[in-house]
Amino acid sequence: MRRIGAHVSIAGGIENAPMRAREIGATAFAMFTKNQRQWNAPPLTTQSIDAFKNNCAECGYHARHILPHDSYLINLGSPDPAKLERSRKAFTDEMQRVEALGLSLLNFHPGSHLNETGIDNCLNTIAESVNIALDNSSGVTAVLENTAGQGSNLGHTFEQLAAIIDQIEDKTRVGVCLDTCHLFAAGYDLRTSEAVEATFNEFDSIVSLSYLRGMHLNDAKLDLGSKRDRHESIGSGFIGNDGFAAIIQHPACDEIPLILETPNPDIWNREIEMLYQMERDKR
Ligand SMILES: [Zn+2]
Ligand SMILES: [Zn+2]
Repeated sequence: MRRIGAHVSIAGGIENAPMRAREIGATAFAMFTKNQRQWNAPPLTTQSIDAFKNNCAECGYHARHILPHDSYLINLGSPDPAKLERSRKAFTDEMQRVEALGLSLLNFHPGSHLNETGIDNCLNTIAESVNIALDNSSGVTAVLENTAGQGSNLGHTFEQLAAIIDQIEDKTRVGVCLDTCHLFAAGYDLRTSEAVEATFNEFDSIVSLSYLRGMHLNDAKLDLGSKRDRHESIGSGFIGNDGFAAIIQHPACDEIPLILETPNPDIWNREIEMLYQMERDKR
């Protein structure tokens, strides 16, 4: 079945996330593991971890349908040695938080070269960062998110994602989350069923669909190839309903978390229901 949800708030404690997801009819969800705007966070308490696990069980969420997102401050490809070190520590800490919560995935943006180093060099640094984090955690898969290609952010082509994965020592613990807005902004068309099929096929031939661990479902406020990361509600942007119907019906989307990061949380319940309906319409 399709597991559709949204990136929900952890306000008041991480243990509140599963109930927030259930309230909007979600069968998957994403969340931060700590305040995403701060480098340091106190460790999760045993009470909070236990409550999170109980609430996930009560609401029927399994680890593979929960896709935590790391802090936006982290740059695993930073050309500055001190900042790289800080990012690697913070990312490893997040991997360990995910492990403590009994979860299995951590979604992150690969990294940025900041115009201070070359693309290949930055991709190598990112891969090394992931290897370090994998060495210092267990049971958690590092899930690379494709980017829109804004600024110097890498990971906006399938070739770049493949180049990182190629250098990961434990390939059983690396995966990819495809963000539809980012794909579209980076120039991968998703507006028709033919375009969706072609984009998934291209991903499969360059990276392999076997690495797909999740999707972020966001429409795009700007047209194809804008290289800008501007999310829009489903059906209200340049990808449109036909594109999302084709995406949701694609077999690669079965049993992986499909997460809304659309700008209006008040309509997430309706967007989720609409996406379930698009899947049902196929039959
Ligand atoms: Zn995303
Ligand atoms: Zn985005």
